[in-house]
Amino acid sequence: MSETRIYLDNAATTAISDNVLEAMMPWLKEGYGNASSVYSLGRKSAIALNKARAQCAEILGCDSRDIFFTSGGTESDNHAVFSAAEAALAKGKRHIITSAFEHHAILEPLKVLEKQGFSVTYLPVHENGVVRVSDFEAAVTDDTGFVTVMAANNEIGTVQPIAEIGGICRERGITFHTDAVQAFGNIPINVREQNVDMLSLSGHKIHAMKGVGLLYVRDSASLRPFIRGGAQQSGKRAGTENIAGIAGLAEAMRAAAVNISGKNGKLLPMREKLIAELSKISGARLNGDREKRLASNVNFSFGGIEGEALILRLDLLGIAVSSGSACTSGSLDPSHVLTALGLTKDEARSSVRITMSDLTTEAEIDELIRVLPGEIEKLRALIG
Ligand code: PLP
Repeated sequence: MSETRIYLDNAATTAISDNVLEAMMPWLKEGYGNASSVYSLGRKSAIALNKARAQCAEILGCDSRDIFFTSGGTESDNHAVFSAAEAALAKGKRHIITSAFEHHAILEPLKVLEKQGFSVTYLPVHENGVVRVSDFEAAVTDDTGFVTVMAANNEIGTVQPIAEIGGICRERGITFHTDAVQAFGNIPINVREQNVDMLSLSGHKIHAMKGVGLLYVRDSASLRPFIRGGAQQSGKRAGTENIAGIAGLAEAMRAAAVNISGKNGKLLPMREKLIAELSKISGARLNGDREKRLASNVNFSFGGIEGEALILRLDLLGIAVSSGSACTSGSLDPSHVLTALGLTKDEARSSVRITMSDLTTEAEIDELIRVLPGEIEKLRALIG
């Protein structure tokens, strides 16, 4: 197996950073107490938990009591959707609005709710991969009780107008959730300023460990329990807290939030170079808006090839990129995100996603630009 030298799949996951590991270590070693225990070893863990919660809340612009630690983005999204739907139903509302290209952690729970009698409007994302506020306004009815629209898309990195949608929801008394798993650390996120009622985050996308994340809920009293069996986290998300993971998440969020402009200042020219150079390849098509996209994301379709085959060729050269989202790779289904933009199944299957982190170097981007055209040529020659 070849060694990965150049890692360009940071939307799938990121490497744990040294500062995060340092923040976690005390709680993996000597500080192993259960945060619910009354003796000092346990109390130390409880103090660390509260400190991490306060830090995450300050970064997001909310109260500590409104933060719930979870096992990651998938759990946060599931919890948000099922809880908000139950709360909407209690008010007699059965209509939900979302976008056509949310992560499956949103779409699958919504499918369950549709079977239970909810009606769901899937907003179009148009050719550029951006939800239009006018489409959203037209979709809202008196029966709308819940809206969930992601802050940035995981495959094409397009940034959505969440503050505007949140503002309309606030005026109309509708609960607004955003999946900020890909956006956080790339664009400023402040739940107060952006009118967000519920928000999902995942640690492993921002250099913390896998298996930790958070759910913010403005009206935390209204949150329905999701995991039952203990009094932890107000009984709404039971289970012994993962102190090391949570301490790491808080540190990862701190480091990411203070570095947004520094990271974008570094990545934007690299993204522009990638787009300019890869556009020169015949049959290349950039997926998603040219401007309204994260500085870290480039997504191209290269006519006539299989994205998966290109990924395997690049892997042999020690370069890691992806096609579609990590969660759907391995399945032959074309990405629902790309088909939502109007791509044909073949065009969607010919896509490659390149996602950078603050650790990505210009030399790595230059190397990809150097080898990619030749690898595409070889694949096209094989097809004939
Ligand atoms: N939401 C989005 C937008 C994502 O990109 C992902 C992961 O790819 C998730 C949710 C799921 O997060 P996790 O892997 O922490 O469960």
